[in-house]
Amino acid sequence: MVYPDTFEGFAVHDTKKWSTVEKIEFKPKPFGPYDVDIKVEACGVCGSDVHTVTGGWEAPVLPVIVGHEIVGKVVKVGDKVTTLKVGDRAGVGAQIWSCLECEICKQGNETYCPKWVDTYNDAYPDGTRTYGGYSSHIRAHEHFAFPIPEKLNTLGVAPMLCAGITTYSPLVRNGAGPGKKVGVVGIGGLGHFAIMWAKALGCEVYVFSRSSKKKADALQLGADHFVATGEGENWNSDLKYKLDMIISTANSTKNFDFDAYAIMLKVHAKFIAVGLPEDQFQISGGTLLKNGCYIGSSHLGSRQEMIDMLNLAAEKGIESWYEAIAISKGGIKEALERCHDGDVKYRFTLSDYSKEFA
Ligand code: NDP
Repeated sequence: MVYPDTFEGFAVHDTKKWSTVEKIEFKPKPFGPYDVDIKVEACGVCGSDVHTVTGGWEAPVLPVIVGHEIVGKVVKVGDKVTTLKVGDRAGVGAQIWSCLECEICKQGNETYCPKWVDTYNDAYPDGTRTYGGYSSHIRAHEHFAFPIPEKLNTLGVAPMLCAGITTYSPLVRNGAGPGKKVGVVGIGGLGHFAIMWAKALGCEVYVFSRSSKKKADALQLGADHFVATGEGENWNSDLKYKLDMIISTANSTKNFDFDAYAIMLKVHAKFIAVGLPEDQFQISGGTLLKNGCYIGSSHLGSRQEMIDMLNLAAEKGIESWYEAIAISKGGIKEALERCHDGDVKYRFTLSDYSKEFA
């Protein structure tokens, strides 16, 4: 019987046919006292979904059901759950579990727990595979299920569960605020949030995109300055040693001139790559020495940061720029292919779940 014994979802069975999905039933992990079951109502389509189904990072375990920007209604809660109740709206992002016992977890760094489990294409310690939000339901420990403020609409908030938090966390952890000059590289799902958060936090925002096609959008999202990096030489010449941090959301390294970005940082400032290209950045010897800048990354964000981000969005009226697309074999195919081609402003949210999942 589909729910509560099994869930249903749209799975990719072959990375060579990465946009072709078939509906399958799967068994979720055993229900624990801290678990909640959520009937999914919406799910964003993330660049990571594309890296995974194409096998671009590494071969996924097939069949794979992706989707980690999930919002829906809580339909069941375990005995010990205190943060959600049946009927609440809740979201789940790209992480579904961590041990919550180690020092790393206790310090609010659960996204760096050595035992972390991804929402899809991963396995719990007992071996149960994880399946994402292109599905009827998702089961999660309450720590990884977040109450959604009433003001935020379901389709618009879904992309925040991954794209939103992945850009919010490094901004706040690195002191984004009034007086800070923040560079954002790439205007896609993550990048468009980075611009909105940086602006909402009071920063001066510099946006770097490969062409000027997205300039009007960048300015509307809140950018103070826009630079097209692929339309001429010396695009960085006025900006050397000016920026307090750069958040790079680039998901490829094709023609990525790392040195040209790094030299725009102030002394000891940070280049934070949240984008996860399938190939490697080329960094010339001596580049980092010129300003002593640091290169780093950032993984999602903590539960507290997720709650703070959702509250900030509710307070400031921030939501994703999204295109809704009804979940179905055809809808998923279109969303994955257009996301792969960068043909979306700036996130797809899969909708109309009740038509596919009774
Ligand atoms: P999108 O495809 O929506 O956006 C990526 C953007 O990167 C593009 O729109 C483009 O912006 C820019 N870009 C692409 N190639 C290049 C390049 N060669 N040089 C410069 N800019 C480039 O993807 P998402 O925003 O959904 O995801 C971005 C990345 O973040 C992915 O690799 C994803 O896996 C990763 N990710 C990381 C997480 C983490 O925890 N760190 C969590 C979730 C996702 P433009 O056209 O403006 O140049």
